[in-house]
Amino acid sequence: MRVLFMGPPGAGKGTQAALLAQRLGIVHISTGDIFRSNVSQGTPLGLRAKAFMDKGEYVPDDVTNDMVRDRLAQPDAEAGFILDGYPRTVAQVLELDGMLADSGEQLDAVIELTADTDELVTRLSKRAQEQGRTDDTPEVIRRRLEVYADSTAPLIALFAERGILTAVDGLGAIDDVTARLVTALAN
Ligand code: AMP
Repeated sequence: MRVLFMGPPGAGKGTQAALLAQRLGIVHISTGDIFRSNVSQGTPLGLRAKAFMDKGEYVPDDVTNDMVRDRLAQPDAEAGFILDGYPRTVAQVLELDGMLADSGEQLDAVIELTADTDELVTRLSKRAQEQGRTDDTPEVIRRRLEVYADSTAPLIALFAERGILTAVDGLGAIDDVTARLVTALAN
């Protein structure tokens, strides 16, 4: 199964993608997690990405696309994956289309996890206290929501046109949302 998780920052993509991937026995690939791990290890990729992440901006497409191409080429992605936080721009969608076509694969589903803005801000502020992410400050949270609305939200229509989009309500208890996702993917 090859699935994309879309939705604004704070919608719960990371939490739900991890739970679902474990349940389905496929890998959870989060571009944000890969960037953060590179930042904490001080790799050249991490140093390059950090400047963008700390401002709430997207890391340039060429850097992100190369990283995803490498990750999807790993043997553990062959059986399927949940991609969380990628693609986020039109250029990334086209690049992903190319990667999948090269290996004769296609997406099974795109999930849009939804939540209203007040809930997103509340969740991100809570996460800031719990995890201390440098991009969870009020100013950067605002910018990340703006960048999502400008660059990524329009992609939802594109996947809807392809007939593979399902919107799932991300509000409520974690287990309830997971149950909704399981139902959505079974249909
Ligand atoms: P996330 O954990 O998915 O919210 O990602 C954290 C940050 O990593 C984002 O605000 C971006 O700076 C960067 N990032 C993650 N995924 C992408 C992507 N697909 N394209 C560009 N930047 C990304």
